[in-house]
Amino acid sequence: MIYNNEKIVSVGKGSPLTLSWELVTHCQFKCSYCYFNPYESSTNYSEVMKIVLTKIKNIKEPVEMTLLGGEPTLHPEFHHLIKSLYEMNHVTKIDVITNFQPTVEFWRPLLPYKDKIEIVLSYHVEYSQKNFFKKIEALKNDFNMNIIFLVHNELKYLSKLKEAADKYFELGLETLPITFAKLVDRSSGSAEYFEYQAETLSFLSEQEKRVKRLKYPEVIPVTTEAGTKIEINQMEFSSKNMNRFKGWKCQMNALIIHPDGMVSYPCTNQKKHILFAELGKRNLVCAHEICPCEAYWNFTKTKNS
Ligand code: SF4
Ligand code: SF4
Repeated sequence: MIYNNEKIVSVGKGSPLTLSWELVTHCQFKCSYCYFNPYESSTNYSEVMKIVLTKIKNIKEPVEMTLLGGEPTLHPEFHHLIKSLYEMNHVTKIDVITNFQPTVEFWRPLLPYKDKIEIVLSYHVEYSQKNFFKKIEALKNDFNMNIIFLVHNELKYLSKLKEAADKYFELGLETLPITFAKLVDRSSGSAEYFEYQAETLSFLSEQEKRVKRLKYPEVIPVTTEAGTKIEINQMEFSSKNMNRFKGWKCQMNALIIHPDGMVSYPCTNQKKHILFAELGKRNLVCAHEICPCEAYWNFTKTKNS
């Protein structure tokens, strides 16, 4: 991996144990590119919640939670669940990845817990997501927020994407980070980006320049062979195809808890019920063509010499 003519030998700065908890199987949308394929299920979410919370309570190290789905805000006890996690001292952060359909009033009861919460708003151009930016305006002083702006590869969506991107930059929220992300195709069982045409790639590179001017752009720390430490803008990292670590050593520190209480160990095919799952770091040698999830780029990775 080369950046500005320098060989990169390590990426990421490590991170606490990250538990991604898929709270429910359903969602208001059915995005064509959704890897989850939402569906209605008969799972007793309250029962699963009790078991998972007990298991998390017994973890002996700091934990960062990421709540997702389906759409996590549709969990029948969403507010109670956030309160329970908040009250665990070792849970240091609670990210909620949401399509931001709930009203402003839905979010306000979470204000007492806001110091641990980050609302990660995902923008899905196939749906109208009415009032998306108005709700951001209404809540911008109350919660930490972050936008994942999914850039569709079909040209018919390009004008709507441009309009939405302009709306975001017009808000002048230079402290609200945004990532313009390409769609990942997981249909073949492995992950690869969908194919993008020149017009959309040009839109992406325009947004990359705009994001670089923000006060706090998301960055990925890397170390060169000469020992120099550099922070690379997350969008540049992706546009230069730097998220490819096949054969590198990776300190993978994330697990996925599914709505039915099963636990997946990402980047391997392992799965266990939460009652029997060990929740902790794993040292892997990366076997994948791309590392598709931005959240995983910060796990420490070193090039095998
Ligand atoms: S909003 Fe998210 S979970 Fe819902 S269908 Fe779209 S990608 Fe899937
Ligand atoms: S795909 Fe998985 S194993 Fe490979 S670098 Fe990313 S997190 Fe690590």
